[in-house]
Amino acid sequence: MKKLIVITGASSGIGRSTAIKLSNEGHPLLLLARNKEKLMELNLPNTLCKSVDVTDVQSIKEAVVEAEEKYGKVDCLVNCAGIMLLGEAQNQDPEEWKRMLDVNVMGVLNGIHVVLDDMIKRNEGTIINISSIAGRKTFPNHSAYCGTKFAVHAITENIREEVANHNVRMITIAPGVVETNLLSHTTSDEIKDSYTDWKKTIGGGLQAEDIANTISFAYSQPQNICIREIVIATTRQE
Ligand code: NDP
Repeated sequence: MKKLIVITGASSGIGRSTAIKLSNEGHPLLLLARNKEKLMELNLPNTLCKSVDVTDVQSIKEAVVEAEEKYGKVDCLVNCAGIMLLGEAQNQDPEEWKRMLDVNVMGVLNGIHVVLDDMIKRNEGTIINISSIAGRKTFPNHSAYCGTKFAVHAITENIREEVANHNVRMITIAPGVVETNLLSHTTSDEIKDSYTDWKKTIGGGLQAEDIANTISFAYSQPQNICIREIVIATTRQE
């Protein structure tokens, strides 16, 4: 059997497509998200589904221990769980900022905390963090979201430098617009409408499967090759 991969945010969108892709390639999986029913609906072989909030490091740890007992050590963590609460800085509820920081930044760090030490000791492993083009440039009403994604880029690259000589790969995937449920988290209808209008001007986004293929491509390189970052968007996204 191939090696164990952990995917956070596997109940929807990019994480869900990635779970299907990597399972089809023969990997046992640990799938994490709050909605366990949606994880179970995938009905993938050699897969453990756990209802885990990525802001709770202890519950990630317990799920990983259980998965490793069944399928062996974690070879790859895909940190995909994330939320996008767009808002004008002047009006946005700080609670929304906090939720985004907790899920998009602490959630990523929590996953890394659980698997990294063992990867370093074994001198192998891969961590793939899903950032965004919004982690490289800014967009209207994205201030806190961009902040979280710039953080994901920085965290990934900084840890990569730390662990490179332990043969552990740290990879950032930075998608442009992808057709998923991500926008639905935003509470302002006005902002949602203007985002949707902008999306039409570029002919819509990529499909979640496109990002799953990209994740699979980066992971499937030999362990001595680390694709540090992939930025992927529709040709028409400026
Ligand atoms: P979706 O909304 O479709 O999926 C988000 C996933 O994150 C769900 O599985 C959700 O599961 C999970 N999630 C949210 N909060 C938590 C939490 N506290 N604990 C555990 N899981 C959580 O969006 P996408 O698939 O688009 O988003 C995936 C990633 O891709 C995000 O990091 C996003 O920022 C990034 N991205 C998306 C882009 C896009 O245009 N769609 C572009 C660039 C980057 P549940 O609700 O069951 O917990």
